[in-house]
Amino acid sequence: MQALIVKKPYELVWEDIQQPTEPGPDEVLIRVKAAGICGTDVHIFQGSHGAVTYPRIPGHEFSGEVVAVGEKVSHIKVGDPVAVDPVVSCGECSMCTIGRHNICHTVKCLGVQTDGCFTEVVKIKANRVYPFSPEIDWDTAALVEPFSVAAQIAERLRINEKDRVLIIGGGTIGLALLQVVQGVYQAEAIVADLVESKLKLAQEMGAKGVINSGQVNAVKEAQKVWDNKGPSVIVEAVGNSKLLQSLIADAPPGCRVGVIGFMAEPIQISPMEITKRELEIIGSRMNRDKLPDVLNWFKEGKISNPQKLITHKFKLKDAQKAFELIEKDPGQVCKVILEY
Ligand SMILES: [Zn+2]
Ligand SMILES: [Zn+2]
Repeated sequence: MQALIVKKPYELVWEDIQQPTEPGPDEVLIRVKAAGICGTDVHIFQGSHGAVTYPRIPGHEFSGEVVAVGEKVSHIKVGDPVAVDPVVSCGECSMCTIGRHNICHTVKCLGVQTDGCFTEVVKIKANRVYPFSPEIDWDTAALVEPFSVAAQIAERLRINEKDRVLIIGGGTIGLALLQVVQGVYQAEAIVADLVESKLKLAQEMGAKGVINSGQVNAVKEAQKVWDNKGPSVIVEAVGNSKLLQSLIADAPPGCRVGVIGFMAEPIQISPMEITKRELEIIGSRMNRDKLPDVLNWFKEGKISNPQKLITHKFKLKDAQKAFELIEKDPGQVCKVILEY
């Protein structure tokens, strides 16, 4: 079968690889039907992801059809449409045994530390696979993973209906989080970004407000929208250390600040600032068994229009063009779906 391989940064090739062998007792084989391109895949392509070795088959956001199941697998059968959770953990360490397997000491993400879904057939443990009802199409099901990341952020930040959530960054995760905050938790959210087209998308998704943070201070501007009440939650969804530092500096008393990026550049915070204002700096990584929740939210209509994140579709064969488009014009691209 064919796979899209990043041989080394900026060298994307199609190659024949061995099709996975028969699934083990607790494994399944999935024929991939649709996959999203994530910022992480772009970092792998560009060579700017610290945790990746090459060559690597990227891709971790996908849906597919089950083509073989191991003998111990009972919750899914051949032919089922499934969404896939790409988090791979050991199942035995102290974090895994309390259910926090997304921060397992050996945690891996499919398509990052191991080969991913930009190929025809993927073998994976059956407990990472969730069947979905036929009213959800393949492309939408490929969005379940990024929404599960947003669901994890919302849980970690203890979002509730009284919150005023300022989301900095209108990319896939920022806009998925907007839909989760407002649609699921009934809290208000404002989205800030530098790019007008992303703010327009946020507006169309029903954001309480949008702020062009190139022109004004987002935290202060959000305060105006909320009748002088500051945001109770701020999420840095851009992935910029300097920006995070300034958000912590501007955060109002009692604020929970969400940190979700993989920025290595250190920041400076005076601990006194955290103490004085009782700030909470909260990390969130991938997701912890959130796919069933997201599938329910899609079904119940709490997330009413997940497809709105999709700005472009390409055939898998044209993946190179998709990567080039994202590089050339990142402001115009939210989620790119590769169709198989
Ligand atoms: Zn992703
Ligand atoms: Zn573990």
